[in-house]
Amino acid sequence: MLVLSSPSGAGKSSIARSLLSPGKDAGAPEVTLSVSVTTRPRRGSEVDGVHYRFLSERDFAVMRERDELLEWAEVHGNFYGTPRGPVEEALAAGRDVLFDIDWQGTLQLYEKAREDIVSVFILPPSMAELKSRLERRAEDSPDVIERRLANARTEIAHWQEYDYVIVNDDLNRALADVRAILAAGRLKRERRPGLEAFVRTLVE
Ligand code: GDP
Ligand code: ADP
Ligand code: 5GP
Repeated sequence: MLVLSSPSGAGKSSIARSLLSPGKDAGAPEVTLSVSVTTRPRRGSEVDGVHYRFLSERDFAVMRERDELLEWAEVHGNFYGTPRGPVEEALAAGRDVLFDIDWQGTLQLYEKAREDIVSVFILPPSMAELKSRLERRAEDSPDVIERRLANARTEIAHWQEYDYVIVNDDLNRALADVRAILAAGRLKRERRPGLEAFVRTLVE
């Protein structure tokens, strides 16, 4: 489980998009995105079921009450949650799952499966650049951008709860760093159940 968090506009979605798009390089990692449900209005560029599943507050509450969410949180005045089923299916099939979730969701996932998680916090190079990225993205109204900037300090305050920290100055550099973290995470001894038998064949 690869978790990406950052203040809004730092570049999580851009990094996630590149990890998910079928890469030209042979080593492109095959990660599955956990598609969250949210009560926030859909942005012009977003596709229901691809970027998020957009739900009414009522339908969100139903999922939450049925325990169909692995974690959920209120972020920037909207509800967001991770549907449990698709994550469990992907993990059971041996696929790695990418989560674009906030710090509250990350802490909830830690409680469930800390040893299965690699977490990355993405920082902007400056607050001025964060603001200009939100403005350049041109997907949110001025008051929504103000709210996200105001919340950025709270999100950033949680940076020490993450395994890795990347300053997203150059997007390609940041992407290469996330790929390296993913590659190293996959090589962790604890995540390689088949290794013990293999090593035995070497020494016997
Ligand atoms: P962005 O920050 O500009 O990408 O805005 P989004 O609307 O995509 O995300 C809003 C916030 O909700 C971000 O802090 C995300 O990390 C967080 N978020 C998105 N999906 C999830 C989720 O499934 N679970 C949790 N806990 N947080 C999520
Ligand atoms: P998040 O998902 O964290 O809110 P996005 O991935 O939507 O952030 O990025 C916010 C905006 O900043 C987008 O318009 C994106 O194209 C741009 N952006 C992301 N990373 C960089 C970077 N390293 N340099 C310049 N612009 C960037
Ligand atoms: P946005 O509205 O820009 O798509 O997302 C705002 C924030 O909500 C981001 O920080 C994003 O990571 C977070 N977020 C998105 N989906 C979820 C989710 O399912 N759970 C939690 N906890 N946060 C989410």
